[in-house]
Amino acid sequence: MSTMTGLLQAVSARADEFIRLRRDLHRHPELAYEEHRTAALVASQLEAWGYQVERGIGGTGVVGQLVRGDSTRRLGLRADMDALPITEASGREWASQNAGVMHACGHDGHTAMLLAAARHLAEDARFSGTLNLVFQPAEEGGGGALRMMQDGLFERYPCDAVFAMHNMPGYPQGQLVLREGAMMASSDYATVTLGGVGGHGAMPHKAVDPLVAAASLVMALQTVVSRNVDPLQPAVVTVGALHAGRANNVIPASATLELSVRALDRATRDLLERRVKELVLLQAQSFGVQAEIDWRRGYPVLVNTPAETAFAREVATALVGQERVTPHGAALTGSEDFAFMLERVPGSYILIGNGDGPADGPTACMVHNPGYDFHDGNIAIGAAFWVALVQRFLEAPARSR
Ligand SMILES: [Zn+2]
Ligand SMILES: [Zn+2]
Repeated sequence: MSTMTGLLQAVSARADEFIRLRRDLHRHPELAYEEHRTAALVASQLEAWGYQVERGIGGTGVVGQLVRGDSTRRLGLRADMDALPITEASGREWASQNAGVMHACGHDGHTAMLLAAARHLAEDARFSGTLNLVFQPAEEGGGGALRMMQDGLFERYPCDAVFAMHNMPGYPQGQLVLREGAMMASSDYATVTLGGVGGHGAMPHKAVDPLVAAASLVMALQTVVSRNVDPLQPAVVTVGALHAGRANNVIPASATLELSVRALDRATRDLLERRVKELVLLQAQSFGVQAEIDWRRGYPVLVNTPAETAFAREVATALVGQERVTPHGAALTGSEDFAFMLERVPGSYILIGNGDGPADGPTACMVHNPGYDFHDGNIAIGAAFWVALVQRFLEAPARSR
C-alpha cells in the first residue's frame, strides 16, 4: 500500500509535463488515419526515452517496445490517438486550433496517460519481460485496432495480455471502473433499399408503393428486440434514417432505411442480423416490393476476460483504495474497437471517471459533446495505474529490486 502511494506521488510530481503535452494534443486534434503530428510526437518521445519504436503500423499507428530482465512474459497497453469531426465549444484556453476537428472523446488524455507511464517505466524499470505500448489510429469508427492487427501487430509484437483505458463522465473523477465479461456493444450497420414501381398518387393501384412497405417495416423491426431477443439480453435496433418520396401526389419508386444494430452478446448479435434480414425480405415480399440489404459488421462485442479483469481490479484497488474503484461497472451500448484486440488476446478495458457534477465544469458533459474536455487530474492516476499494472504483470525477481 505504501509503495503504491509512493508511486502515485512520484507520477504526480511529474504530471505537469504531461498535462502540457495533453493540452498540446488537444490544440492539435487529428482525424482518423491523419494522426501524423500526434504519431510523430509519440514516436519521438518514446525514442528519446529508450524505447524501440516502429511507426506506420496500420496507417499512423505506433508501437514502442521496452525489454527488461530475462522474463518471457509480454504485455500490451493500448491508447487511441484520433479526434472527431466536431467544432469545439469548450471555451478552454487549449481549445482546438483545427477548425471542425476536436478531441471530444478524451483520446488526447489516453495518449498523455500512456506516455506519462512510458517515461516513468523507462527510468524506473522495475519489471522483467517485454512491454509493448500500442498507440492506435482511428478508434472512432475507422477500425484502427483492426488495421494494426491486419498489419501484423500481434505477430510482430506478441502479447500475453492487453489492456486499454477510456475516460468516462458520469463517474467521479479518477474512479477506476472494471467489468468482467461483455462491457461494450457490437455495432453493425445496414442499408435497406426497397424498390417498387413509381406512379401517380391518385392511382395507387397502378403503382407498387415502397413507402408503405417501408413504414410497415419500421414497425415490424421493433418486434426484433421485444419479441425475439431474450429479455435479459440488451439489444438495440434503431432505424435512424428513412428516405422516400418528394411530393404529395407522387408514389416514389424506392425507399431507403438506415439501421444501427447493437448487442452485448455474440449470439444475440447473430440473432439480430438473422431476424432483421428475415423481416426485411418477408415484409417486402408481402407488399410486392424488391428488397436489397447491405449489411456491414462494425466493431464486435467487447468482452473482458475474467482473470485479466480480476488482476486489473487488484492493481486498481491497491493503487487508489476500494472506495475509488467500481469493481463491477455497468455495460455500455457504445462500441469500441479495442474489442478486436480482445478477440485475439486476453485482457481488459478499464474506465477512468472524468467527473460527474457541475463542479467539474465541461468535464461533466458526455463524450462527443462539443464542450467536452478530458480531466487533467486523471493523467497521474491513469499513468500510475499503468505503471503498477506493468510492474505487477511483469514482476521482476525480488533480488533485482
Ligand atoms: Zn468516442
Ligand atoms: Zn473514445
